[in-house]
Amino acid sequence: MTFQNTLEFAQQLDAQDDLKDYRNEFIFPQHNGKEVIYFTGNSLGLQPKRTKKYVDDVMNDWANLAVEGHFYSEKPWWDYHERFANPLSKLVGAKPSEITVMNTLTVNLHLLMVSFYRPTKTRYKIICEEKAFPSDQYMFQSQVDFHSRNFGINKEDAIVEIKRREGEHNIRLEDILAKINEVGDELALVLIGGVNYYTGQVFDMKAITEVGHKAGAVVGFDLAHAAGNIKLELHDWNVDFAAWCSYKYMNSGPGNASGCFIHEKHHQADLPRFAGWWGHNKERRFKMEPTFDPVHGADGWQISNLPILSLAPYLASVELFAEVGMDKLIQKRNQITAYLEFVLREIDKEIDGTEFEIITPTNQEERACQLSVLLHGQGRSLFDYLMKNGVITDWREPNVIRFAPAPFYCSYEDMYNFGQILKQGILKG
Ligand SMILES: *Cc1c(COP(=O)(O)O)cnc(C)c1O
Repeated sequence: MTFQNTLEFAQQLDAQDDLKDYRNEFIFPQHNGKEVIYFTGNSLGLQPKRTKKYVDDVMNDWANLAVEGHFYSEKPWWDYHERFANPLSKLVGAKPSEITVMNTLTVNLHLLMVSFYRPTKTRYKIICEEKAFPSDQYMFQSQVDFHSRNFGINKEDAIVEIKRREGEHNIRLEDILAKINEVGDELALVLIGGVNYYTGQVFDMKAITEVGHKAGAVVGFDLAHAAGNIKLELHDWNVDFAAWCSYKYMNSGPGNASGCFIHEKHHQADLPRFAGWWGHNKERRFKMEPTFDPVHGADGWQISNLPILSLAPYLASVELFAEVGMDKLIQKRNQITAYLEFVLREIDKEIDGTEFEIITPTNQEERACQLSVLLHGQGRSLFDYLMKNGVITDWREPNVIRFAPAPFYCSYEDMYNFGQILKQGILKG
């Protein structure tokens, strides 16, 4: 499709958009009496209007039923998490038994590493991407430290980062695969973000998993920026484990619960895990037995009594996703991201063509709903101008702005209007 950078053209795309009515399902912050242009759905998704009812229902059940709400509310609390298995498994390409929801993301990755990072003196290395999300970096360092105190694995070379080549912004798949093969017999775990948070690059998880397994390693993914954003086939790709947060593209609210995937091939295996009573045999959980007998499947990794007030907004959001399905979201995501790219390039051309550079891959297979823009002209002041003028974006040091036009609620008209504000901001600067 040939795009045009005009209001009429953007409105025409909106009129043809299958998802246009879903914009009304979300609550937008206001700026000077108008809805903001929201580009940070990759950081904290907007609140769906239906979410409040899910939370109110829990509050009402708690008021009316108190402890009996565990069993007698309309959505009983004791197995509330099981409501996620079907819809979430479809969103990430898993079997329902491979899915559970609990805790928060970094906590879950640590817990999964208890089962899936089992270093020995000779096979102890972890492969991750350079400049991984800081929480992941701290996690790797602390896991390695923990194991090194127990039996002296070499802390100094245990974490192997895959680097970008000189002058390039993205990591090449061939370099990831080559590094896996190079580390070979020493490789215990590959754990990479499915979508890089900084550049928006999407990694080929299928290829990485296959080559990781050939090297004898376990392969997991941090799907913080992938869940609700890209097509995932975790089961078929044979991924060992994965976890994601729910507050980014999945719109579940600040700091909310995390989803986990554990491939069914591991359900019967005698893997170590940190256990708690919510992972215990469901029928016998309240018999308060002394010996742990895990639930078969990912729910066997549950630990605590569920945070229902955190799961309720997540359930609202998962049901919204299930209603629409990833295919439609991905279709719009591709088009609106392409339109945003077009608008950015047009504005740059109209000025002098040197203001900024898009560092996200241009190839649609390698990107999803995010364009990261490296500013060459004005830096932070341009970001401040955008924020003051109702464009909510996100600043990353040293001089990158990330734009994520979430397909659920962003419009093509937003992209056009954003372009006009950006242009004013550059010309003023
Ligand atoms: C957002 C994000 C996190 C956040 O983890 P929490 O434990 O939910 O705070 C972790 N990893 C990546 C890659 C992220 O993008």
